[in-house]
Amino acid sequence: MKVYYDQDANLDILKGKNIAVMGYGSQGHAHALNLKDSGMDVGVGLRKSSSRWKEAEEAGLKVFTVDEAANWADVIMILLPDQNQKEVYESQIKPFLSEGKTLAFAHGFNIHYKQIVPPENIDVIMIAPKGPGHLVRRTFQEGSGTPCLIAIHQDFSGQARDKALTWAKGIGGTRAGVIETTFKDETETDLFGEQAVLCGGSAELIKAGFETLVEAGYPAELAYFECMHELKLIVDLYYEGGLTRMNYSVSDTAEYGGMTRGTRVINSDTKKVMKEILSEIQSGKFAEEWIEENKNGQPTLNKLRKENQEHPIEKIGAKLRSMMSWLKKN
Ligand code: NAD
Ligand code: MG
Ligand code: MG
Ligand code: MG
Ligand code: MG
Ligand code: MG
Repeated sequence: MKVYYDQDANLDILKGKNIAVMGYGSQGHAHALNLKDSGMDVGVGLRKSSSRWKEAEEAGLKVFTVDEAANWADVIMILLPDQNQKEVYESQIKPFLSEGKTLAFAHGFNIHYKQIVPPENIDVIMIAPKGPGHLVRRTFQEGSGTPCLIAIHQDFSGQARDKALTWAKGIGGTRAGVIETTFKDETETDLFGEQAVLCGGSAELIKAGFETLVEAGYPAELAYFECMHELKLIVDLYYEGGLTRMNYSVSDTAEYGGMTRGTRVINSDTKKVMKEILSEIQSGKFAEEWIEENKNGQPTLNKLRKENQEHPIEKIGAKLRSMMSWLKKN
């Protein structure tokens, strides 16, 4: 796979263009501020009522309503929650998509599942940082960057890839490395990763381990440390040097016990379920369910969110973390 770095991208391609970032949340604030620091003319599109309006203005950014920003902009990056994008696009962005403009995304959901079908006479690109927005901002300020994926859905101008690379450079992505993919692959792997491993899989693994210890009569404090707190230290080792570094760093007892027992926790049945989850993503079944959930006002999400917030690991965790002085600094 080709990896693009700083020398492969030219900031001049977007300099002097009107660049609108819709939304000022996790990704929005990071893209807007990094691009501004890279010398771009950036405006943020928000609701008049938004609590972030003042914050963006104080950061030295132009702030508009979404329709004003869409009208002003040459390049429009949609960094709204995925479930709100279709509605905002239809009512406040689409009317201003005149020939030659560029529409950009940081995740492919709405394009891949055809919730948004842009006109043919514009460029449609993706720049997806592989990390939360606050990391995209922090690494940029520290002089490094967050790796990004780029993808081209429509190349009307013949310059779509250059624009995506320029955006990636402007937010610091080419300092770390940028890989080209497709909207389909980014969308499907992103959904699978968060469902099976990163969010869903890891949360259920933590809860099951914690419950097993507490139900066996061990103190919740110990269960919290073993099953949640220490996970960060382990994940840092994966991040730095993979499975080998993790196993090197833990004791031989942990390495032997882990390798002989881990396969009993996560086994061929687990993988069978992972394949089912992937199929539901590929067929569009998950997307359909999520779109329906949003039409109904997110009843299942609200119920499950409340259940998770009330889990005993959250009570003991809040208490223990309040004693960790180094966490209070953030
Ligand atoms: P977020 O929820 O943190 O922020 C959304 C912003 O949109 C907020 O400023 C909110 O006030 C604003 N907003 C919401 N509804 C609006 C409306 N109707 N009109 C105007 N503004 C509105 O969202 P996020 O997590 O930054 O996600 C944005 C995009 O980035 C999504 O496509 C997501 O998949 C993608 N992405 C997120 C991450 C991440 O780690 N958070 C990583 C990669 C890609
Ligand atoms: Mg959230
Ligand atoms: Mg992701
Ligand atoms: Mg995601
Ligand atoms: Mg231990
Ligand atoms: Mg070891």
